[in-house]
Amino acid sequence: MKSICIYCGSSPGADPSYIEAAKTVGRVLAERKIELVYGGANVGLMGALAESVLAHDGEVTGIMPEFLVSKEVAHQSLTRLHVVKSMHERKRLMAELADGFVALPGGMGTLEELFEILTWAQLGLHPKPCGLLNVNGYFDHLIKFLECSVEQRFVHQEHFKAIHVDTDVEKLIARFDAYEAPHNSKWIDRE
Ligand code: AMP
Repeated sequence: MKSICIYCGSSPGADPSYIEAAKTVGRVLAERKIELVYGGANVGLMGALAESVLAHDGEVTGIMPEFLVSKEVAHQSLTRLHVVKSMHERKRLMAELADGFVALPGGMGTLEELFEILTWAQLGLHPKPCGLLNVNGYFDHLIKFLECSVEQRFVHQEHFKAIHVDTDVEKLIARFDAYEAPHNSKWIDRE
């Protein structure tokens, strides 16, 4: 893993453990010389994460659409900041530049980004690992819902299992290093 894209909240969340987790992830990425690719904001978990990578001498690439630069407050001290035209361009570039994807707690934006990259994985559009850092049990209900989707045969078991879930970012990265994408895409795999 040379770079990891982190999706996370532009809000700090209700519990201090979320910001703490973002800071820990930032430190671990910097220590392992893994570049952070993220949305480029200096607010919420996004800001805490980027600050932590930079404070530990790591590299950060931010990608932000121009209409959000003022609203979301672009981080001014990143290693690189790409200002792009649209949300779609942002997500495409984030996906291109990263070797793997992790969602930390966040809101609609985080969930949308996570599900898009998971969808691209199950369609066989990329072979890169995707995971959730389940801080403070934040994703418990989402995981239960996905289990229900598997039971109801809307999500294939193999694609659900390909989502790495952990509470420890070091373990998540170790699993990413050992990851091999499922052989069957959603389409050839259909019964
Ligand atoms: P949130 O989790 O809602 O706090 O948002 C986290 C990040 O996702 C922020 O940088 C948002 O600008 C971004 N975001 C929100 N909606 C979308 C979307 N539809 N596509 C891509 N990024 C989004």
